[in-house]
Amino acid sequence: MTTLVMKFGGSSVGTTTALSQVLSIVLYESEQWDRLILVVSALDGVTDALIEAAHLAQLGNQRGYRRIIANLRTRHLALIEELPLGTTERTALQADIDRLLFDLLDIYQTMAQTPADTVVPDKVDATIGVGERLAARIIAALLRQNDLRSVASDATNLIVTNDTFGNAMPDIRLTRDLVLNNLLPMLDRKIIPVVTGFIGVTAKGKPTTMGRGGSDLTASVLGVCAQADEVWIWTAVDGMMTADPREVPGAKVIPTLSYQEVAELAYFGARILHARMVTPLAQERIPLRVKNVYKPQQAGTLIHQANPNRSRNFKAVTSISGMGLVASRSGSLSPISLLVDQTLFATTHTHAEVMISSQSSTSSFVCFLIPTSAGPDAVHSAKQLLEEKLAENPESESWLVNPVSIITAISERLDEWPELTANVLQAIDKTRILGITHGPSHCTLSLIVEPQDAEDVLLLIHQLIINTE
Ligand code: ASP
Ligand code: MG
Repeated sequence: MTTLVMKFGGSSVGTTTALSQVLSIVLYESEQWDRLILVVSALDGVTDALIEAAHLAQLGNQRGYRRIIANLRTRHLALIEELPLGTTERTALQADIDRLLFDLLDIYQTMAQTPADTVVPDKVDATIGVGERLAARIIAALLRQNDLRSVASDATNLIVTNDTFGNAMPDIRLTRDLVLNNLLPMLDRKIIPVVTGFIGVTAKGKPTTMGRGGSDLTASVLGVCAQADEVWIWTAVDGMMTADPREVPGAKVIPTLSYQEVAELAYFGARILHARMVTPLAQERIPLRVKNVYKPQQAGTLIHQANPNRSRNFKAVTSISGMGLVASRSGSLSPISLLVDQTLFATTHTHAEVMISSQSSTSSFVCFLIPTSAGPDAVHSAKQLLEEKLAENPESESWLVNPVSIITAISERLDEWPELTANVLQAIDKTRILGITHGPSHCTLSLIVEPQDAEDVLLLIHQLIINTE
């Protein structure tokens, strides 16, 4: 019995062209595998809109959230209008869309009655999964219209998580039981479930979400719990790349990566995969593929166990923003780390991660990585608030805060081949290095540099990857 989990991201479900690709992929793969499980994200941009609507509801801005919901309704109705659906499917879908959005307005109204200045993450989580619910219903209808047995399935009946609202962690053991009871029977009846990505539920029944891009994690958890043979992530790019093609024009697709390499790549800023989705698959050794929905015949990137004949080179290089803090004194770093974490959480609802800390007899340096999920303005807004807080507190006043860039080169064989590190240092020549570290996974070399040097360093290291291929 072969089982495949396929996840389709927001850009592969947002237009009729993309949806017709999805349909032909599912029609084809349903012939190749005994059992298929699909996971879908909300249409592109819908989650952003829902987050904004939830914030407006919390501020009591009724006009604001109503306008957003009206736009979402128009967009989804227009999409199903364009799809080749029969009258029964279309009418049922229209009713579903209206019901889901009507219920949402109800929740917003309750939120708006007790306005609050700060975001309440559990309230936001109770509303923002609607985008996935809408998308799952649309895709299941499209498949049924094409003679596939398919049902939209809410992950609130499948994925149990802890109560870290906004960034919840799935509980594999509890989820496995639900998958056994609620999902596997459908597969046995040759039904293709279309599961809502991103969302889950606590053991006590409260809705949660698993962080931006969390549908990847849904796919990997379902893959593990249903003992899938493979998990495929369908995106609008050709696979995992040697660098972000928006920053490095010569970036190429990487044909194979190990679990460890791809996990580091996601952690250090490659935006294609959710950073926490790899571990469950690695533990069960389930291969993962990243493929382009518009070029299904291409292999994309295959992620599996390390291959003994690996090439003597870096696989990829990433760039991510961070904050560097310097003080001309030595001593405990815990108070400053705590302050930075609290500040970042207050401004962006994500936690800062200490990237590197180093001290000498007279000075200290701490560099924090700001997760890409925190958004593009995170460094700027966190720096501002942090400086205000430091000024309030004479004890910590001596810290200077500066934005930094963290450039990370990734190779599983870094610890075996010191010349890889030497090559990088030689390539970047006279660039000023603020900090340097070999990550504890023995798979990353990170250089901390001033933001104005980041582009050069990134290009130079990428050149090294391309030249020694
Ligand atoms: N729709 C959610 C987001 O935009 C989850 C996902 O796309 O995976 O973050
Ligand atoms: Mg994604």
